[in-house]
Amino acid sequence: MTSLGDIEVTRLKGVGAALADKLAKLGIQSIQDLLFHLPYRYEDRTRIIPMGSLRVGDVAVVEGEVMKTDVVMGRRRSMQVTLRDDSGFLVMRFFHFSAGQKNQLTEGARVRCFGEVRPGRAGYEFYHPEYQVNPPPMPSAEQATLTPVYPLTEGIQQPRVRALCQQALGYLDRFPIKDWLPPELLADYQLPGITEAVRLVHSPPASAPVPLLVEGRHPAQQRLVMEELLAHQLSLLQVRQQIQAREALPLLPGGDLIERFLDQLPFKLTGAQRQVVADVRQDLSQPIPMLRLVQGDVGSGKTVVAALAALQAIGAGAQVALMAPTEILAEQHYQNFQAWLEPLGIRLAWLSGKVKGRQREEALAQVADGSAAVVIGTHALFQEDVQFHRLALVIVDEQHRFGVHQRLALREKGVGGTLAPHQLIMTATPIPRTLAMSAYADLDTSVIDELPPGRKAIETIALPDSRRDDVVERVRSACREGRQAYWVCTLVEESEALQCQAAEVTAAELAERLPDLKVGLVHGRLKASEKAAVMEDFKSGDSDLLVATTVIEVGVDVPNASLIIIENPERLGLAQLHQLRGRVGRGEQASFCVLLYHPPLSANGKSRLQALRDSQDGFFIAEKDLEIRGPGEVLGTRQTGMMQFRLADFERDKGWIEPVREMAPSLMEHPKRVEALIRRWLGERVRYGEV
Ligand code: ADP
Ligand code: MG
Repeated sequence: MTSLGDIEVTRLKGVGAALADKLAKLGIQSIQDLLFHLPYRYEDRTRIIPMGSLRVGDVAVVEGEVMKTDVVMGRRRSMQVTLRDDSGFLVMRFFHFSAGQKNQLTEGARVRCFGEVRPGRAGYEFYHPEYQVNPPPMPSAEQATLTPVYPLTEGIQQPRVRALCQQALGYLDRFPIKDWLPPELLADYQLPGITEAVRLVHSPPASAPVPLLVEGRHPAQQRLVMEELLAHQLSLLQVRQQIQAREALPLLPGGDLIERFLDQLPFKLTGAQRQVVADVRQDLSQPIPMLRLVQGDVGSGKTVVAALAALQAIGAGAQVALMAPTEILAEQHYQNFQAWLEPLGIRLAWLSGKVKGRQREEALAQVADGSAAVVIGTHALFQEDVQFHRLALVIVDEQHRFGVHQRLALREKGVGGTLAPHQLIMTATPIPRTLAMSAYADLDTSVIDELPPGRKAIETIALPDSRRDDVVERVRSACREGRQAYWVCTLVEESEALQCQAAEVTAAELAERLPDLKVGLVHGRLKASEKAAVMEDFKSGDSDLLVATTVIEVGVDVPNASLIIIENPERLGLAQLHQLRGRVGRGEQASFCVLLYHPPLSANGKSRLQALRDSQDGFFIAEKDLEIRGPGEVLGTRQTGMMQFRLADFERDKGWIEPVREMAPSLMEHPKRVEALIRRWLGERVRYGEV
């Protein structure tokens, strides 16, 4: 039987090749695709609002009579249509308009329009409202329905999409949508079938409760939300299945490398570290690829855990690759691992995008012939020309910057091409539990939930930038006492070039005001060798103050630094601030973090800085961040494909996370359903590795 998924949108009236192309941009090819192009909100256009009672920001329907229509010249030419009703006036303003529109909107014409209230020159205005001349009577309260609002792409307007969806609904009687969810499941949660749910969200009946619909809590919407979350979960489990369909080299601990390493270590592992090390050891000894995420707050000591995993692989005669997201971080790992592993007779290779020419060839040769047991670098590690000798373990630090598809790609890099490498993924961004359950369903997780002993709390204070002089004095006195400090310049949403420039200006200013101190400067535009030199100066205590952009956000470890100044903290997310703050508090002495904000702070800004002052617990802060900013921001912007939902809203729908996780494994036993659900909700994104 034909299904809606096989019927092209071009079958709909009014859809020609040009419109079909535009729809394709929204991932819509079939009528079923169109029906899964769901409204993301509703507008209540059921009532006409008196113009006199409007306030700025209101979204409303008004109706009145045209008093006059003028074309005015201002900064931009526009058509200005003044309407009036019994209670007041309103201007409709159009920056693009046709002669036909102008002729229609003549004095005395009756117009109903819908728009958002903005302040204007002489009163309130609607810019480019949807409008009707000589409108039909308003539906009665019993017939009034909400108006769906759809995601758009260039060249398609809201009314067009709305009309197409209405037309598509007409196919549902003959071609119901296939329901992939078991009826018992729907009954358990009292949710409607798929066809009914889709029909309702596109065309909510007047009887449907408005508040539920507006909030997205109607059972029809919740049915779709649940299915969407499930589809995402299934796609991650599928990734896991695909990776673990390959075999891995079981890495049995051999020799005495690990003992020798622990003996030379100047500290004892914490209980939490030991637990995670045990999890990893167990995974690595299996003939299936490990897929483990290690979460640990800043400073919890993840690097040692990575080193121990590496030693297990090396002891088994295999190779290890360690990948970090930035040069600075990779470089730092390289130095740590050198210090730890070279005394044990282990050779390391260094590969970043900036290693070129003979050096690169040498490194590549050592990786290829196996003389280097550990390769450390940025994602340059996984370029085509890097051939491993016996790669059995890949360690990825700060995983939140890498995407799921990169994990899939790693599968191809294993020993001899048939065995897949084990994957150990480490992140310092504490991920709230609910988010971890859905965003990292393909990974097992371990948490290092304990800091090494003797860490002192970091005292965090917020000061307005009018106190900058005092802060500079504070830097002076800290450094005079032999400590070091960071000064972080932030400019969000502007170009990297501007950020670097701002840091340069600040560094010059501070150097002038603090002539006794040696000031270093590090930002993303420096050459790798320059960055490394600046970092080395700071690490060795040669420089006192390091002015930096947010490039130092993760991983940088200089225990003698005990003061960090963060400019414009109100522009950064909480998790990012927490990471930055984690650069201090790594040594014996009391540490301070000064948040130098630019007043006035918004209410939201205030509560974020307060959260940071109240807590040093990364998980608490991450939960707050999730509440305030949503999952995309918490996970970082680059790999949020998985978290871009059509309907689901992380806060509102978190109650589904647990049930969805429980129902997913039994569905995995029906590959056809899994494919269909993933295709329905994630579309082609999955196939092209865009998630
Ligand atoms: P992160 O988890 O942020 O990557 P690191 O691995 O950089 O943390 O460790 C932070 C600092 O703590 C390093 O200087 C490291 O040597 C030290 N450290 C790690 N584990 C312990 C421990 N068990 N006891 C004392 N210090 C430790
Ligand atoms: Mg680290």
